[in-house]
Amino acid sequence: MGELEHKYEVEIKTTENRQKIPEDVKTELKAAGMMDEKGKIKLKGVSPKMLKKMKQEYVDCPVLKADIHFVQCFVCPNFQSRVMGKVLCKGKPL
Ligand code: SF4
Repeated sequence: MGELEHKYEVEIKTTENRQKIPEDVKTELKAAGMMDEKGKIKLKGVSPKMLKKMKQEYVDCPVLKADIHFVQCFVCPNFQSRVMGKVLCKGKPL
């Protein structure tokens, strides 16, 4: 098995603060069936426990040059996988 092609390894950070998902991202999540009308996130293969953890995680995104909620990163087209506390990111312009 070859190494996955990715441009960045982005460290996943944790915050105690409540993070908000931007409205436009919510709209996208809803359109993709990954969020219900009440704003509850539903990701396939992600347990409620994992989701709770994910909600406190963020990445300093090298493409968008901003702190991005991990849920947003997880559904980003550049997201490849999560390995040992890091996101393997394709790094393509968004
Ligand atoms: S996967 Fe998307 S949101 Fe996550 S670090 Fe890469 S470009 Fe940023």
